[in-house]
Amino acid sequence: MKPFQMTYATMFDPPEELHTQYEAALSKITANLGNIHGMIISGKEVMAKRDYQIKNPADRELVLGIFQAGTAEHADQAVLAAKKAFPGWSNTPWHERIVLLRKAADIIESRIFEIAAVTTLEVGKNRLESLGDVSEAPALIRYACSQMEQNNGYITEMGEDPVEGYQIKNLSLLRPYGVWLVISPFNFPTALTAGPVGAALIAGNTVVIKPAAKTSFSVRLLAECFRDAGLPDGVVNFVTGSGSVLGQALIDHPGVDGVTFTGSYPVGMGIYRQFAARDYVHPVILELGGKNSAIVTKNANLDRAALGIVRSAFGLQGQKCSANSRVYLEESIYDEVLERITTATRELVLGDPGKRETYLGPVISEAPYNEYQDYIKQLSNAGNLATGGHVLKTNGLEQGYYVEPTVAVDVPHDHALWKKELFLPITMVHKVKDLEQALELSNDINYGLTAGFYGSETEAGQFFEASEAGVNYMNRPQGSTTGAWPSYQPFGGWKASGSSGVGAGGPHYLQRYMREQIRTTVN
Ligand code: NAP
Ligand code: MG
Repeated sequence: MKPFQMTYATMFDPPEELHTQYEAALSKITANLGNIHGMIISGKEVMAKRDYQIKNPADRELVLGIFQAGTAEHADQAVLAAKKAFPGWSNTPWHERIVLLRKAADIIESRIFEIAAVTTLEVGKNRLESLGDVSEAPALIRYACSQMEQNNGYITEMGEDPVEGYQIKNLSLLRPYGVWLVISPFNFPTALTAGPVGAALIAGNTVVIKPAAKTSFSVRLLAECFRDAGLPDGVVNFVTGSGSVLGQALIDHPGVDGVTFTGSYPVGMGIYRQFAARDYVHPVILELGGKNSAIVTKNANLDRAALGIVRSAFGLQGQKCSANSRVYLEESIYDEVLERITTATRELVLGDPGKRETYLGPVISEAPYNEYQDYIKQLSNAGNLATGGHVLKTNGLEQGYYVEPTVAVDVPHDHALWKKELFLPITMVHKVKDLEQALELSNDINYGLTAGFYGSETEAGQFFEASEAGVNYMNRPQGSTTGAWPSYQPFGGWKASGSSGVGAGGPHYLQRYMREQIRTTVN
């Protein structure tokens, strides 16, 4: 294959061989579904008394695999295993740790097609989005390794105290916390597990992984990559089960020293408050939801704007934290841009996410499928639908959770849905007087994850300055609000969208997994 670097910006035109390799992997995986998968605790396969099936959202009868319904007992086993492995791992020199992490990244890369095929089946994510998700994992891990190297393991010599008759040396070190819990969401199972796990491990913590129950299969394959890289037993533990039982038991476990939670605002804030009630302050990294806006002014390239908006509104069926769910169009170009958005939305291909031509697959499960129908009612009562609004049950789509990409217009801006993350292929479009009004409306919300802008360079300066979002894009046809790539666009939210104020895949992230120790020696 000719050299090709997969990112969310390059993925629209991949080499042919990427398709053939993906298709071969998908056939292989499809021929061998329905197996029983264990948890991995201290390097051993662990079974629970009960299990659950993971089904395909594109074909709700198809069982992809059987997974263990872990409980408080397994939470305890996994945390204790990680605790036991901590002294050995944290005392392993950092340059030896990154050798193992780079090996894990290479293994993930070598299994990219299989993991992506499972992701397509389990999440309903189209093939290029699935390949992007998995490719992001080694990119995140390698970037964190290079950060560790560039900063000499975060060991810094400070000045010597100016006391006569003594030599007083001071050394600053960043050191790990201990057992780090990583709870990941269904929508980017591989990337959003591997990113925090990689950072935690490079920093010297040991890890317990709890994926979303619905996407335990992809994450099981990821956990195998860490195991096969030769990390000592107990350094990475993988447990499966529901958020309410296993997830809660992990959150309640006093042996957990730090947590990275990526998921919805209500669950994340609940975790934050529970951690606040513990004996002392423990690090909680939250990566939460979004309600991301794009602004288009009369000076914009309207083709770029429409293309970027449609891609970001409907990629992964709108189930991205960075989905473009609010669009503000300046008066004079409102009709024209809306027309382009509507036409482009109607042209999107919806269907089996494994097929090459598909852009939208099904939504993840019955709950959002039902919510879609409820939101559509509310939006058509309050305003109008420029396109979309139906669930799809014909032409081979009857077995899956398929819903039409929808553009809602004329919904008064005080309607509650302007402030709620819907996590569905629904975007809401609003007419604004000018850029000032657009910025005001765009910022008038708790969320602050990503934002997009189309217009002149001078206006963009105003947009960047005023925007209350962590990740901001100007004039980007590849996606108005989506598609951050590690080491290019660090990804993290402001306000209700994240707790750390820094982005994953950026220069300030890895430090969040360590605490500073000062060592003063007097000679
Ligand atoms: P979710 O429903 O909040 O679940 C996230 C994870 O938390 C899952 O593993 C879930 O397990 C677990 N969980 C649920 N209740 C828990 C509890 N009481 N204690 C501990 N863990 C618990 O989110 P989702 O539906 O998977 O993902 C969508 C959300 O994630 C959206 O809001 C999206 O914006 C956000 N997201 C944010 C980012 C970002 O970088 N900012 C990236 C991607 C997604 P079960 O599913 O097994 O119950
Ligand atoms: Mg959920």
